[in-house]
Amino acid sequence: MPSFIPELVLVRKTALEYPLGSELKERFEARGIKLILYEDRIPALHRQTFREGYLAAKRVMVLSVWRQGEFQTCKPSAHYQLPLVSGCPGLCEYCYLNTNLGRRPYVKVNVNVKDVLGRAEEYVRRRKPEATIFEGAATSDPVAVEHWTGSLRNAVEFFAALDGAKFRFVTKFTDVDGLTAIEHGGKTEIRFSINCTSIIDEYETGVPRLKSRLTAARKCAGAGYPVGFLIAPIFAFEGWREKYGQMLRLVREYLPEKTPVFFELITHRFTTRSKKIIRQAYPDSSVPMEETERSFKYGQFGCGKYVYPGVVLKELKEFFLNEIERLFPGAKILYFV
Ligand code: SF4
Repeated sequence: MPSFIPELVLVRKTALEYPLGSELKERFEARGIKLILYEDRIPALHRQTFREGYLAAKRVMVLSVWRQGEFQTCKPSAHYQLPLVSGCPGLCEYCYLNTNLGRRPYVKVNVNVKDVLGRAEEYVRRRKPEATIFEGAATSDPVAVEHWTGSLRNAVEFFAALDGAKFRFVTKFTDVDGLTAIEHGGKTEIRFSINCTSIIDEYETGVPRLKSRLTAARKCAGAGYPVGFLIAPIFAFEGWREKYGQMLRLVREYLPEKTPVFFELITHRFTTRSKKIIRQAYPDSSVPMEETERSFKYGQFGCGKYVYPGVVLKELKEFFLNEIERLFPGAKILYFV
């Protein structure tokens, strides 16, 4: 799958004061990509419908500057989000970012990478002797733009040399060659987000297919990174046992025996807000979001979500736990939700 090339780049003027900002501007100009400079506010893209605006924004990259505030926390998978990139050019219909980014799903790159890493170091120092874990993909898929930014590479090398720090990120993208030849010290964990092929074909546009992701995972494992798989969202559709069984067997085939792997398992859920956005952005989507077929679960902040009923969750859980244990004996399953 060809790497992401933006159709339009919005450049905050102050981003040009940083090496990555000015370098990217030159590279985009050399390729004839349209650039627009802005002062403080990211210019709005005026389109007639939500869907048109949404799709247009997915082809936009914003070069911005991290404002030197506090990092957002990132429980339970890490202590802090690392604000290098937000957004993603992929078009997965059920994407969790749809709810966060709504109308403005463009890829925003913070070019002052040194400032971000410098602040990360402060957090690590403050929390010592406890280790501090940073998540690089809380609001993005940073690998999608790594061939432009190189920010992950910098972060991986930075954390490799920093005592008391760990780094992790998750991706559906496969541009990992820049990461496999660098020093990571085993301190960066790379998770690949996967699903069975029928779900990928149906709902995941603009992202690499399963076998490409597994090839990338194998490269990362071969380079000594701790590698995991985020299986999400898991759907209970007709024939799910067979399809997810095939997927797990394929993962097994792609990974050399004895590669230590771990799994995170997330069943499909939706909120009233995410359903509304998906319906606007993907009017023909067949992502199952029928409230009557789900159980309602109150969330932490009062807003609730629709999850599979207990009996379905139990079946899914038993299946995944058994199959993973059978194919990957001893592999850790960090959680099933
Ligand atoms: Fe969303 Fe991940 Fe798909 Fe990007 S790859 S659209 S972040 S689900």
